[in-house]
Amino acid sequence: MMKNNGKQLHILFFPFMAQGHTIPMLDIANLFASRGHRATIVTTPLNEPSIRRSVEKFNDRVSSEIATRVINFPTLEEAGLPEGCENMDFITSRNLCDELVPNFFRATTLLRPQLESLMEECKPDCLVADSFFPWSTAAAAEKFGIPRLIFNGMGFFAMSVLASLSASEKVCSDGEEFLVQGIPDRIFLTRRQLPEAEREEDEFLVGLFGEMKESESKSFGVIFNCFYELEPTYADYYRNQLGRRAWHIGPVSLGSSNRGSKNRGNDDQECLKWLDTKDPDSVIYICFGSMVNFGAAQLKEIAEGLESSGQHFIWVVRKNPGDPNEDWLPEGFEERTAGRGLIIRGWAPQVRILEHEAIGGFLTHCGWNSTLEAVSAGVPLVAWPVQAEQFLNEKLVTEVAKIGASVGVKEGAVYGGIVGREQIEKAVRRVMVGEEGEEMRRRVKELAAMAAQAVEEGGSSYSDFDDLIGEIQSESCCR
Ligand code: UDP
Repeated sequence: MMKNNGKQLHILFFPFMAQGHTIPMLDIANLFASRGHRATIVTTPLNEPSIRRSVEKFNDRVSSEIATRVINFPTLEEAGLPEGCENMDFITSRNLCDELVPNFFRATTLLRPQLESLMEECKPDCLVADSFFPWSTAAAAEKFGIPRLIFNGMGFFAMSVLASLSASEKVCSDGEEFLVQGIPDRIFLTRRQLPEAEREEDEFLVGLFGEMKESESKSFGVIFNCFYELEPTYADYYRNQLGRRAWHIGPVSLGSSNRGSKNRGNDDQECLKWLDTKDPDSVIYICFGSMVNFGAAQLKEIAEGLESSGQHFIWVVRKNPGDPNEDWLPEGFEERTAGRGLIIRGWAPQVRILEHEAIGGFLTHCGWNSTLEAVSAGVPLVAWPVQAEQFLNEKLVTEVAKIGASVGVKEGAVYGGIVGREQIEKAVRRVMVGEEGEEMRRRVKELAAMAAQAVEEGGSSYSDFDDLIGEIQSESCCR
């Protein structure tokens, strides 16, 4: 049933080809469809089947309103990419970032004519495109006169910090701390903790990241996968001080609990059954998202740190394929931790794991989806940022919301440092054992209750989503 009185909208979604971007965008399509609107997801041949499968897991009424349309990814000669490389997974799982990332982004800019033909044909009311496609703003707004919304998968805190980075940071040496100017809290960072976009050297990428910032100001506004109560000061700061248009409509993972099960239902069942045998809040879940692959030396430190923490654990391991050393588990580790620990090699049903009452902590790289999924499930975090805007998310978690402890990583993984076992053990214990951890758990459970309320009818995200729909409808009527 349509909740807004206006016309049924048709929204075109154009997600960036990486799990951390596609997953939440599909959830947003789900939201539109569950309010009675139509969604079309634009993707490429090799990405379409998994998108289709995810959509089929939504309830029937919703999935019948979501279509997929395929555009071709540039050919080998055009893009300079190997056969089959249509997703960032391909690049990160083969450890080919340095060689292929600029080419990958360059290839996406070649999609413009196909996207425009599709828009010509479908005549959507709005385009929701990933911020990595800044060129699509011009395509949508200037050529077709429809609003283009940006989705960049970040929270208000991170976006506010990035928008406020000033000359103060530019004059610092790489490892020196600087105070972020202008934002509501006193937050210190170093240049080595900033997203790659802020210190990129590849000329093409520097240009692209510049265009992304510019296209944000030219777009209709930004959709945030978050809820007001998690970062109220920054939601206000972003809108009122920075003067940007934004809608918070999350956490979008709430209501899409099927989506954790990307593969093999039986394995999923196995780890959930294993969790059923554990006490509430007694297990730490360890996962570094869809892109991070550690080498053998770092994995060994994690194993040692987990073992000496004495905690039960589920550890999702993706080893760096570029590291020939297969010998990453300490001798006898699996025997010594039998019954106490479970290793998942591959993809885990993360949302369902986090929602299990046995989970008492989440050692995470602080990707925004993972952070928000932990908050939604009321699970305190152990923060181990690796790249992108993850150091900013760590600050939100540990210093602003105070719902997690930091492992104490000083700089992005590209600088090559290894995090030692003692550091890992100490941070895990801070969250899993004792009063400080209890206090974090109490706070994050309060936020989880607020997140659940936010997406209910009348809640802050629900209402903001209503406003967004209303604005798109009135734009569409004016055309
Ligand atoms: N995810 C999952 N199983 C895994 C690894 C990741 O379901 O084994 C999901 C996770 O729930 C989240 C997304 O993949 O929704 C990862 O996004 P995030 O922003 O946390 O990190 P990224 O992968 O972009 O670094």
